[in-house]
Amino acid sequence: MIVGIPQVLSSFYYLPFYKSFLEGLGCRVLPSSPTTARTLQQLSICPTDEPCISVKLAFPHTRELLDRGVDYLFLPTLVSKDQHSYYCPKHIGLPAMLRSGFDLPAEKLLSPLINWREARRASVASFMEMGRRLGQSENEIRKSLRSAWRFQNRWSALCAGEKLTAPEGFERYLGMSRFKRRRPYNPAARLNRSRRIGVLGHNYVLYDYIAHNIVERLREHAAVLVAEMLPARAIRESLGETAYGRSLWSFEQTIVGSALYWLRRRMVDSLIFLGPFECGPEAVMELLLEKEAEKAGIPLLILTVDEQTGEAGLVTRLEAFLDTLSEQSAVRPGSGKTPAGTRLIPPHQESRVLGFPNMGHLGAALSTILNDGLVRTVGPFPVTRQTVALGEELAPEFICYPFTVTIGQMRQSLEAGANTIIMVGGKGRCRLGWYAELQELALKRAGYRFEMLTIDSPFPLRENYGPFIRTLQSFFEPSLRGRLIRSALLGFYKALLTERAEALFFKLQAREKQRGGAYGLFQKFLKRSAAAASFGSLRKGYRDFADDGAALRLEQRCAPLRVRLIGEIYAVFEEYVNQEIARTLGSLGDIRIEVEREITVMNWFCHNILKSPAQLLRHSRISTAAKPYLEQSVGGHGRDSVGLAALAPREGVEGVIHLWPFTCMPEIVAQSILAGLTEKLSLPLLTVIVNEQTGRAGLKTRLESFAHILQERREAGGGGIECIS
Ligand code: SF4
Repeated sequence: MIVGIPQVLSSFYYLPFYKSFLEGLGCRVLPSSPTTARTLQQLSICPTDEPCISVKLAFPHTRELLDRGVDYLFLPTLVSKDQHSYYCPKHIGLPAMLRSGFDLPAEKLLSPLINWREARRASVASFMEMGRRLGQSENEIRKSLRSAWRFQNRWSALCAGEKLTAPEGFERYLGMSRFKRRRPYNPAARLNRSRRIGVLGHNYVLYDYIAHNIVERLREHAAVLVAEMLPARAIRESLGETAYGRSLWSFEQTIVGSALYWLRRRMVDSLIFLGPFECGPEAVMELLLEKEAEKAGIPLLILTVDEQTGEAGLVTRLEAFLDTLSEQSAVRPGSGKTPAGTRLIPPHQESRVLGFPNMGHLGAALSTILNDGLVRTVGPFPVTRQTVALGEELAPEFICYPFTVTIGQMRQSLEAGANTIIMVGGKGRCRLGWYAELQELALKRAGYRFEMLTIDSPFPLRENYGPFIRTLQSFFEPSLRGRLIRSALLGFYKALLTERAEALFFKLQAREKQRGGAYGLFQKFLKRSAAAASFGSLRKGYRDFADDGAALRLEQRCAPLRVRLIGEIYAVFEEYVNQEIARTLGSLGDIRIEVEREITVMNWFCHNILKSPAQLLRHSRISTAAKPYLEQSVGGHGRDSVGLAALAPREGVEGVIHLWPFTCMPEIVAQSILAGLTEKLSLPLLTVIVNEQTGRAGLKTRLESFAHILQERREAGGGGIECIS
């Protein structure tokens, strides 16, 4: 039985475990060949262009193994390795992406689950089930699992003990040959052993062809340290010295933990961080590493690679950095000076003035909850070009667009006098949970003085209820509890009715005779709702809107096309970010489209916080529909996007628009799976990736051509598929 292991991603960390476990089950293990320039020419096998290079490489590596006729492909579903963290969503979604990309039958893939945080039993059971599929008994499987884990730990200890890189450890311990160059990369290089460079990055980047042997090149100039040269315990301890360490993504803990260890023990005099283009966690690590390196006064070079990165360009950057190091005489701890040209905001005022980022029409509800009667507030500020420009100044390059917009809004609030910012928290699979921490870091580095209050879900009550109440009490007088509850209920009701009104607006605009009437009524409702200070006036406002809507002259024999908006919640909900896509779609000349949008704040709130039976039922229906294509949650609304698309034809939806911000990790996984799924379902799909450059005119043109395709399909009786990307 030949089992193929693509030599990508986690196999650069866990190959000893994978190989030993499979051989223990009597399999012959066949790793794919190392990446070469030729492999990079085959990246088009990956159905979409958005994943990072490391994920894209998994497709040609898998292709090679399938062409070599392996019986099975081995690729575990990596969700979490401990109680506190997750793997990057792309690791979680990779088996599903490959299955969809190659239309692989389920039985071809050996993908046991590793989810220690939420499903330890199911994880062990999935290894047992896999072993049984390979004809092994319970005892043999358990024995093989135990010895494989011991083998993995011995390999890690060997690398740490003998200061080996991962490829050297694989060669020594697994007999895996590695590329060795006979002549020096730079004959002019002079080795200075007293110079110590810490090289950071995912092993599947550092030791893959795309890194152009960066570690070996640097070893010609200095002593090079890499994370696998540190015992796992040392990295865990370093992470334990920070508040954020253990909730970092799994492989990222190794990267940041080793940097902290070296910096705090002054074991390196420079750091080089090599990451792939569009790497989600990298944008988070970048800010954390910059802060730590600055504090230690250690130079940090951040390099980004992808399939276009040429050797010469990379080497030039490296050598320029090495030259600057030679010029620098001594290393000195960070000066902590405020960057020039930043205006200092006065520290805490006597009384708190709250600022908070907004999303879509939620501002009115949040202002109702945080009303001046309870606490002084500024904003919320509508998102404008100015907001985005303010955000771009502070946001890391590859961070997701909502981060840029919300930090821009925070700056507007601070500039308007806020001295406290409230932001949602709660570290999960995607980057949202890091926003508050990184935004606080970036804003304070820019010279703003304020307090960041992070509000997380009160669930699970045992762990989170206390911190939730303490955060509330830090800006609400306990004596005002009664008023707070009333305001919170009014705010909740306002948000609920606003979403209902918006759904009604989508229906009306698709059928109204005179275009634009429904929009006018909806804007009027929004003004009344924002001003409403009582349940009665709010209900009245909604009833008047519904009555006025019903009074609109509507096309009687009109059967609008039904289009479902799926994707990342901020992009789907914030009109500036999605360029009012729902309104544009619903008012496209002669084509009538009714927009459906289920990914909303109130649906999220009713499902995750209120646990409403209706939302729980709907959500399980969506997850069940997604299961054959994407079983595991990849964070955000990634799995929901797949489930809602899978349900679409059964629910009379004729087209799907997948809307998400550039580099959004969960939606990159969803996009890869939607490509194959919508083809199978003959469901037209339009992918809209938004970022700071997204233009309204260009988007409208794409929506118009998508609408025409849907119209033609309906007129043609629904044959064939149309995808626009
Ligand atoms: S996004 Fe980054 S962390 Fe995730 S798989 Fe790609 S390189 Fe790895």
